[in-house]
Amino acid sequence: MTPIRRQYLKVKHSFPDAILLFRMGDFYETFDDDARVASKELEITLTSRSMGKNVKVPMAGVPAHAVESYLAKLVKRGHKVAICEQLSVPDSSKGLVERDVVRVVTPGTVLESSLLDQKVNNYLAAVVLEGDSAGFAYADVTTGEFAAAQLDRSQLPLELERISPSEVLSPETDAPDSDEGFPDHAGQFPTEVDYTYFELETARRALLDHYGILSLESFGCEHLPLAVRAAGAILLYLRDTRRTGKLHLLNLGVYSTAGFMDLDVNTRRNLELFTAGRNDRREHSLLATLDQTRTPMGGRLLRRWLGQPLLDLEELERRLDAVSYFFNDAFRRAGAGSALSKVPDLERILGKIKAGVVAPRELIALKAGLDAVPELLEQLSRDISASVEPEADSSSFPPSSSRTHRLPREGGGRGHGRGTKPPDVDSRLRGNDELDSGNDELDDGNDELDGGGDKSGGGSDELVGNNGLDEREGMAWLCRQLTPLPEICELIDRSIAPEPVGNPGEGNVIREGFSPELDALKHDSQNARSFIAGLEQTERERTGLRGLKIGYNQVFGYYIEVSKSNQSQVPDNYIRRQTLVNSERYITPEIKEYESLVLNAKERIEEMERSLFRQVCEQISESGEVISRLAGAVAMVDVFVSLAETASANGYLRPKLDHGRVISIKNGRHPALERLLDRGTYVPNDLYLSNDDARIVLLTGPNMAGKSTFIRQAAIIVLMAQVGSYVPASEATIGLVDRIFTRVGLQDDLTTGQSTFMVEMVETAAILNQATPRSLVVLDEIGRGTSTYDGLSIARSVIEHLHNDQRLGCKTLFATHYHELTELAGTLPGVRNFTVAVTEEDGDVVFLHRIVPGGADKSYGVHVARLAGLPQGVVNRAWEVLADLEDTQNSKRKSGRRRSPKAADLQMPLFDPARAVADEVKALDIPNLTPLEAINCLYELQRKARELTGSS
Ligand code: ADP
Ligand code: MG
Repeated sequence: MTPIRRQYLKVKHSFPDAILLFRMGDFYETFDDDARVASKELEITLTSRSMGKNVKVPMAGVPAHAVESYLAKLVKRGHKVAICEQLSVPDSSKGLVERDVVRVVTPGTVLESSLLDQKVNNYLAAVVLEGDSAGFAYADVTTGEFAAAQLDRSQLPLELERISPSEVLSPETDAPDSDEGFPDHAGQFPTEVDYTYFELETARRALLDHYGILSLESFGCEHLPLAVRAAGAILLYLRDTRRTGKLHLLNLGVYSTAGFMDLDVNTRRNLELFTAGRNDRREHSLLATLDQTRTPMGGRLLRRWLGQPLLDLEELERRLDAVSYFFNDAFRRAGAGSALSKVPDLERILGKIKAGVVAPRELIALKAGLDAVPELLEQLSRDISASVEPEADSSSFPPSSSRTHRLPREGGGRGHGRGTKPPDVDSRLRGNDELDSGNDELDDGNDELDGGGDKSGGGSDELVGNNGLDEREGMAWLCRQLTPLPEICELIDRSIAPEPVGNPGEGNVIREGFSPELDALKHDSQNARSFIAGLEQTERERTGLRGLKIGYNQVFGYYIEVSKSNQSQVPDNYIRRQTLVNSERYITPEIKEYESLVLNAKERIEEMERSLFRQVCEQISESGEVISRLAGAVAMVDVFVSLAETASANGYLRPKLDHGRVISIKNGRHPALERLLDRGTYVPNDLYLSNDDARIVLLTGPNMAGKSTFIRQAAIIVLMAQVGSYVPASEATIGLVDRIFTRVGLQDDLTTGQSTFMVEMVETAAILNQATPRSLVVLDEIGRGTSTYDGLSIARSVIEHLHNDQRLGCKTLFATHYHELTELAGTLPGVRNFTVAVTEEDGDVVFLHRIVPGGADKSYGVHVARLAGLPQGVVNRAWEVLADLEDTQNSKRKSGRRRSPKAADLQMPLFDPARAVADEVKALDIPNLTPLEAINCLYELQRKARELTGSS
């Protein structure tokens, strides 16, 4: 075995489950099984390399300069990649180059910008389960966010969904059922880690050591063992993956979910918060509709806020105040916007500085961003009477006069929950007393933190308001967080070349004048270079040899080349080194002297520049907490400006929020859909829901009328209001809701056809079991996934249950095409019938998209089929069948054969359904169908066939 093989095996031994990228010169090589995997995943050639007598090992390599894109591929496929670097300068005299792993890259720990989505956090999460409780922690190593919570186990899927981690750690275990409680999660990469990482003492110790503290009480988690275990495991895992550089983690934010609205997977999807439509495209989502943020931090914050609506009225009012502040002044909005657009990703740049992987030009970007802060401040503080002088110590808050308000923050920090169990749901909303006392408790905790000086991200987002109504006060607070940091600007300005080229060490990064020593070295090296460069000319003149050339190669260094024919004229001081076919190569003592000057200087310049760069980074790191806080404040301003901008561009209005029992919306619109339609063509609609009378809105109407749109729009408006955004309506009073439930019956959508009737029922059951009087339940076409009778019966009994169950009492929007259900309003006093107005013109239906009181009298299914382009033969036949059916029904009614009125409404007279399906198939105009239409037809036919045979 060659020494290098031995070295490789030794390193590999410590990273058995990672693909080891082993640096050899200008390449990263992989060997053995790693090489097989890499060659397949990366589509690179698998070769082999001899590594000792009769030792030939598979090998596949990638060029070092392009490693990032290869790394991205591997990590995206869920591989762990260990990067092994050369740690000493190759030098033939010293034997083998020292090598070791500097970093293990996993989906949850990447730092490379090309692997990250600018406006999306990349989270690593950890989960530990015990009985009915769960410990949950997550960190974004690129921004330093770090949070933990102790939850009810049932809450875990919601938190996992909210955080959408790229990687989830859980304790290694033999029990196969240990992944209980993990929902299927797109992109989730489960990693089992050493069980001991999750042990309380180990985890606790790791946290105490990392933060250099003696008790976890300051984070408020000393008494939350599961939260500590999850957080500690993250820390230990990160330490394993990051072998050099510092870990960039802000203070651990311990939170409770009690202050937030729970949003389950279905609701996120059905309301299209982050992706929309069949292809899960981002551009038509609610986020894309609202997002006008200019900084990556702002983008990420808005995303977090949208995924975590609030229940706290005061906090919401404060957010709305801040939005109003920019909404009411277009000039200020534009000014702040232009300042914001100069700010780069402060959070991630800081993370890279700490990890030691920052690029010089990112420091220049950092400086440009810091330079923009005074400009931003100016826009914010125009006409603010309060002092906006940045305060040296932000812990002087809260000032004595007013009570502390906190600007709502995502994730950590808001943890007023002191136990795993959230307070009972009603008190989450009404019981402000309880919440308040919780807050006081937290404030105490924070004062303790403050004692420690700076508090960064973890718990700093506090806002002092004057009864929560003075928007300028809020801005004054934000302004105080926007510390300009001129000394860092000055440092970067002085030390880094204005347009740095390449990496530190290549000589073009440190600015001239920063280090006289470096300048002198560069100067000498430059002199020596120009001496050598001039040598060709001087030697030609001296010797009279016109063909004389100066060259350089790795083996001899600089040499003088003279053609064979001119040998006789070579001066005495030339020393021959090499004979070629047509020429001889020489050196001189003088040339060697300058050569060593150049080469030594090069090495020393490299070393010095690297070390200077490191020092600059370290100095910036020292202000890390201030930069973090600044980044947090910039993000918030960015989100407020963005929300104000969207609101102003689309004619939104500030909602009135209260703890009341009413949701009342005038001229509400669907924010994403209205943007897709021509301006002014979206039909606005009103909604009134109240726990006291109109608790259930039953919306009937034909397909394509706008039912789904209307009920979703209501839920979206409520959600937007509880994020702190303006809403698309001309008037909105929102009694805060604790949770929005949505369930959409068998999707119209083919691509999501996996949803089975069973799933639909399971989810409906979950809603019926969990909703409270404060919940908003949105049910769309429940019962569609089965035969008509079954479906009608289920839909009906669900409504009855929602109405009659004493405990439930939730507000409900129920859309259905079963117009037979409208009669329920007659017997259930809380049910209100609404329908979507439709007119008929020359036999064509026209959907008005206007919601009006009353029920639909027929379903217009055949009209819709015609509009959709179903072949005329099919449509005509359908009309025939329909006429028959109606006739039969009418004659039955007349002949008094109705059994009971209710049953009669559910009744569908007999006809031969198989015949109808066969007719439909016969009438198909196959050559003229597009593939999509064909699939749709097939799907529809299958559905009918199943209905016939009674299976779903
Ligand atoms: P339904 O659920 O009744 O079948 P949808 O809510 O899916 O109907 O709406 C069908 C289509 O009608 C939508 O895709 C949209 O283009 C249009 N639409 C719905 N509501 C409105 C509205 N208020 N204004 C304008 N167009 C609307
Ligand atoms: Mg619908």
